[in-house]
Amino acid sequence: MTSPLLKVENLSKYYYGSRSLAERLTGVPETVVRAVNHVDLTIGRGEILGLIGESGCGKSTLGRAILRLHEPTSGRITFDGVDVTALGPEAMKTMRRRMQIIFQDPYASLNPRRTVAETVGLPLKLHNLAANPEEVRSKVSAMIERVGLKANQLDRYPHQFSGGQRQRIGIARALVSNPEFIVCDEPVSALDVSIQAQIIKLLLELKNEMGLTYLFISHDISVIGYLADRVAVMYLGEIVEMGPVDSVLSRPRHPYTQSLMSAVPDIDDSGPKARVRLVGDLPSPLNPPSGCKFHTRCPLAVEKCKISVPQIESVGTGHMASCHRLGENLSLLEEKAS
Ligand code: ADP
Ligand code: MG
Repeated sequence: MTSPLLKVENLSKYYYGSRSLAERLTGVPETVVRAVNHVDLTIGRGEILGLIGESGCGKSTLGRAILRLHEPTSGRITFDGVDVTALGPEAMKTMRRRMQIIFQDPYASLNPRRTVAETVGLPLKLHNLAANPEEVRSKVSAMIERVGLKANQLDRYPHQFSGGQRQRIGIARALVSNPEFIVCDEPVSALDVSIQAQIIKLLLELKNEMGLTYLFISHDISVIGYLADRVAVMYLGEIVEMGPVDSVLSRPRHPYTQSLMSAVPDIDDSGPKARVRLVGDLPSPLNPPSGCKFHTRCPLAVEKCKISVPQIESVGTGHMASCHRLGENLSLLEEKAS
C-alpha cells in the first residue's frame, strides 16, 4: 500500500480567549474553545475526503490548521512524507505552493482593490514561478480561461463579477501554482443552487486534469455523497465516524451520522435509513459535555455515555465509529421497503 499524501495525527487547535488585566488578577479563568480535538485522518493521493458536520463543529478550523493558516495547538501533519508541523517559515512558504485552499465566501476572500490579474498572479510571484511579468500574465490568462472566465476580464475587479465567477477566480488563485492538495472549504455553500453544480463539475474536472487531492468540507450531505471517496463526520471538534462514502452514508453507525442522514430527503433509495431525530442545539465548545460529547443529544445515551469517552473502532472495511452502543444502534436502522 502506498503511503497517504496527507497524514494528520492527534491534531488539536484550541482558541484561547483573551482576558483583561483585572480578570487575570482576580482569577477569572481563561476561556478555551477546543475547536479541533485530537483528530486523526489520512488522505490518499488523488482521493477526495469529504468532511461533514454542523456549523461550528470545527471543519474550517481543521482545514486551516492542516495548512497551518491557523497554527495547530498540538499534533502532527505529514505531507508527502514531510513533517509540515516542524517546518520553519521559509520552508513552510515553499510547502504552501503545494497545499492550497478555496474559501467558502467568494465575496470576502478576494481583495476588492486587486484586479483578477493581480490576485491570480500573486502566487506565481510569491513562489517565483514565472521569469518575467509577461510570463505571469500568460500563465494567469491560461488559468483564468481554464476556470471558465475570459482573458479580456483580467483587468477587472471582483465587484464586476457574479458570485459564481468570483468563486472561479478563487479557484484560479488556488490552482495557478500547480499545487497537489486543496482544502475546499464549503466552496459552493454561498452560491445559488443553479451555480453550485457548475462549480462542482469544474472542481472535479480540475482534480482529474491536475492530479489533485481534496479535503472537501460541506454541510451538504448530497454534495459529499456525489463527489467524495471517503467521508469523515465531525462533532464538537472530533471525528466520530469515518469511512468509504457509500458505507458511511448508507449504513451510518454513529447516532450523530444517523441523525444527519435522517434529515436528508433521499439520496439513495437502496439502503436502510436511520430514523434518528437530532434534538437541541450544538453544545458550546467552550464547555463541552463530559464522556461522549454527543450524549446530550443522543437518543441512545445511557449512564456510561455521560462518563466515559468512547474510542473510535472498526465497524467494517475502512469504516470506523466512536460510540459505546455500536452493538445496539444498528436496530435503529430500519430496512426500507423496496
Ligand atoms: P465550522 O467551520 O464547522 O462551522 P469553525 O471551525 O469555524 O466551525 O469553528 C469551530 C469553533 O471554533 C466554533 O465554536 C467557533 O466559534 C470557534 N472559532 C472559530 N474561529 C475562531 C477564532 N479565530 N477565535 C476563537 N474561536 C473561534
Ligand atoms: Mg466553516
